[in-house]
Amino acid sequence: MTTTFSDAYLKFTQIYNQLQVREEDHTIRVPEKVIRCIWNDQLFCTPSLKTKDGQKLEIVYPGYWNFGKGPDFTSATIKVNGKVYAGDVELHVYATDWNAHGHSGNPDFDNVILHVYMWQGRGKKSRPPAKQKGFQFEIKDYLTKGILELNDELDFENYPALNSSNVGLCHQPLAQLSEEKLTHLLNAAGEARVFTKMERFHDSVIIEGYEQTFYRGVAEAMGYPENKQPFQTLADTLPLSELNNLVPAKLKKGERVLHYQALLFGASGLMNKGTEKKAGFRKLLPIWNTYKDRAPHSPLTKKDWSFRAIRPANYPYRRLAGLAHLLVRHEKTEREGAGMFANFIGSFQKILAASGQETPDKKTLNAFNDFFCVSADDYWANHYTPDGKTLPQSQQLVGSARSREIIINIGLPIGLIFARAGKFKDLETGLNALFQTGKSASDHKLLRFMKHYIFGNREEMLRVLHSEKQNQGLMQIYQDFCTQNQNNCLHCPFPDVVKRYFS
Ligand code: SF4
Repeated sequence: MTTTFSDAYLKFTQIYNQLQVREEDHTIRVPEKVIRCIWNDQLFCTPSLKTKDGQKLEIVYPGYWNFGKGPDFTSATIKVNGKVYAGDVELHVYATDWNAHGHSGNPDFDNVILHVYMWQGRGKKSRPPAKQKGFQFEIKDYLTKGILELNDELDFENYPALNSSNVGLCHQPLAQLSEEKLTHLLNAAGEARVFTKMERFHDSVIIEGYEQTFYRGVAEAMGYPENKQPFQTLADTLPLSELNNLVPAKLKKGERVLHYQALLFGASGLMNKGTEKKAGFRKLLPIWNTYKDRAPHSPLTKKDWSFRAIRPANYPYRRLAGLAHLLVRHEKTEREGAGMFANFIGSFQKILAASGQETPDKKTLNAFNDFFCVSADDYWANHYTPDGKTLPQSQQLVGSARSREIIINIGLPIGLIFARAGKFKDLETGLNALFQTGKSASDHKLLRFMKHYIFGNREEMLRVLHSEKQNQGLMQIYQDFCTQNQNNCLHCPFPDVVKRYFS
């Protein structure tokens, strides 16, 4: 039975009294496990290593990955200025973590011969920690690739090698829960994740209204993950009211799409003077030239956009083109259309009304997940750059997976704000049912890592991940516990919280 959204997870987290359900933090955060993986695979240039005090360092053997208490790697062998040392290796993101993690004076760390860290400390003025064991080695200058690239490439799930002990300390208490209790926990955490997203949008809804907030959110979701920021800036630079004022009302739909694309590309900084010869901009640049002196100044330039590790079909050019189609499809005009948010909620309410007292069936809800899909019959349908690079075959500008992500991250929280403000209980229940469909929105490396690390990839535990809601719950647990404890289970209260909550 589907119900309204509950606050059970907040009660759960109150056991760990300082914990709040945390908002996603998109600043770069390197989990300690990445450093462990780099060390395990020795992903740095070995011939020229130097300790922090300038002595020649050679790694003879990196040691064994330690799953228990104490240093991260045991029984390593190194040479410093030709002299052999045998002992343990401790790894951190920052050198200062040695003290922060309470290793000073801990006898478990007496045998550390090498302290390896990515950075000396946070910020330029950070001072080296007072007293530490062993030689110090700052790894950042020796990496074979950039840290973000390594972070993307490392397959957490398979580190160091699959074996039964390679699971987090919360695995055992979770494995002892019944399927019903585990589902309850994940559902509650998933719902809490929607609440944190609601908080993000709440003020904006009050100040700017539902439509502008929704447009900015959809634009942001077009840019997930790397181009979220420039898409947000673009939606702020060209708000709906501005787009509406600039584009003449008399233009027909097809022309309107071109004009919206011209404005979005022009303000994005991706289409400048000198790009007129590019096939993708040939029509758009002359249109942009008619607007550019009237359009608001945009701070964006090409440098603000990332193309790194993005599949061609998801390139920002295609997303911008897709956003223009969505805006025109849902445009609020005197003759037709009510706005993207109004259409989203209105279409969903029609589905709910058609199902009467019942929750709509899965097939109907799954079909609604394609609400934001965009199929286009234009240049961008089979190109991914303005200079003519073609996709192997024509593809939607916004496909099912991205549409589903928009619903989860933007549609649900803003829809829930609307439902609660208007006390539309049926709408809230319907949105909760929508949350319990489809899993395609989240199947990324982090989720796979969590499935392995806290579920041990055990079939009977994975079974509880039967909809996006539980996936989101798992991500919330990662956010609230793993990242807050730098993936170090020994510092993490979660295993204890699970035992106490369900005892
Ligand atoms: S850090 Fe905490 S939540 Fe994450 S795997 Fe370890 S015990 Fe579980």
